[in-house]
Amino acid sequence: MATQLRSLPSVDKVLADGRVQRLVETYSRGAVVDLVREQLAEARQAAQRGEPAATLDAVVEGVAKAAGSRWEHWPLPVINATGVILHTNLGRAPLSDDARAAVQRVAASYSNLEFDLDTGHRGSRQGRLSQLLAQLTGAEAALAVNNNASAVMLGLAAVAAGKQVIVSRGEAVEIGGGFRIPDVLRQSGAELVEVGTTNRTYAQDYENAVTERTGAILAVHASNFRVVGFTHAPTIPDLVELGRKHGIPVLHDLGSGCLLDTSQFGLAKEPMPQDSIASGVGLAFFSGDKMLGGPQAGIVAGTKELVGKLSRHPLARAVRMDKLSMAALVATLLHYVGSEATDKIPIWRMIAMPLEDLDLRAQRWRASLGGGASVVDGASTVGGGSLPGETLSSRLLCLQPSGAGGVEALAARLRRASQPVIGRIEDGRLLLDPRTVLPEQGDALVRALKEALR
Ligand SMILES: *Cc1c(COP(=O)(O)O)cnc(C)c1O
Repeated sequence: MATQLRSLPSVDKVLADGRVQRLVETYSRGAVVDLVREQLAEARQAAQRGEPAATLDAVVEGVAKAAGSRWEHWPLPVINATGVILHTNLGRAPLSDDARAAVQRVAASYSNLEFDLDTGHRGSRQGRLSQLLAQLTGAEAALAVNNNASAVMLGLAAVAAGKQVIVSRGEAVEIGGGFRIPDVLRQSGAELVEVGTTNRTYAQDYENAVTERTGAILAVHASNFRVVGFTHAPTIPDLVELGRKHGIPVLHDLGSGCLLDTSQFGLAKEPMPQDSIASGVGLAFFSGDKMLGGPQAGIVAGTKELVGKLSRHPLARAVRMDKLSMAALVATLLHYVGSEATDKIPIWRMIAMPLEDLDLRAQRWRASLGGGASVVDGASTVGGGSLPGETLSSRLLCLQPSGAGGVEALAARLRRASQPVIGRIEDGRLLLDPRTVLPEQGDALVRALKEALR
């Protein structure tokens, strides 16, 4: 062991290597020395376990690899060929051209973020966004924060801290990524009162639970699962009526916040904030980067009184939205104002894409590969906690490699291509869905495929 330790190269020796020198020129000496020390520490531990001493070459390679992966830009753009439109692991909604341009304009310059150009005095950070959101949802007032999880947390803290919040047992759920309704309620300082059963809850169950300490009724859209069969839940108007009778606001977490009617695309109808507001809920909560098709954001629309409470709560500052996202959100909302959402917002273009166009794109990819692939029927999904179980018919490029490693190895090569492509594997076939591949990414996808199939 001692000889193995002694035969490890020294820090200076590794630093003197030409390949490491080039890293020093690109980055900095200090940063590279840190990596060399790390690699040598690992080599020392391996030697102490009795493994053969690492050679100079192996240490240098380790340093180069660590520099390459740790110091490359991140997140990297990838091509989403999974057919899942709102893929949470792939960053949910891609932005429209206008939203992207708005971010770029504001990123590199000062802006009137909190400055009133008319008066020359401090202005409101939320004013413009609130007006747009209120108009689009039909609410009296609105507020945008960092994400929907923080919107719900802020809403409960501002409206119901120290009070009881009535939730159906079937809705005290986990949405994913650690967002659990009972935990969020506890953190907000409210007390959860569960009513009904997992599958059936009636308005009467809520009413029986009302006490003088009730602060709100919370309705949560079961966004990423479906309970089928012997089920019952009161409608939002039922809950609002009950709330009015007892002077209790209804808070509605919609999850996705879909401003367009999804039934026009052959999908089930995803709950819409406009309907929720029209029914008379006190507050409606939804995400900016799900079916709204914008940046990460949490939107709260509702009555002036309740939205005002949220704006004045200390947590509002802690969960406030960043200016780049605000610029992207305003640009996205303007697409809805201009009735051009299905033309301009990428996720709506994907949802609305006709089957003929999907077939045409898949056929074009197949032809460019010159053999080895076919085009098959398949289905895309909305994903991102929206419309579980609902699918859109699609036409998919299908690859069934017979070579070494088969389909898994091909998928791995595609992920590591110079422009990474993420597909899905089904029944030993690699499937690539044109629906989620942005129009300008088609050529890059074909190049990546050729690279991976070589
Ligand atoms: C997705 C979702 C959330 C969390 O929203 P984020 O914007 O990801 O924070 C909360 N509630 C419901 C019902 C959801 O579907």
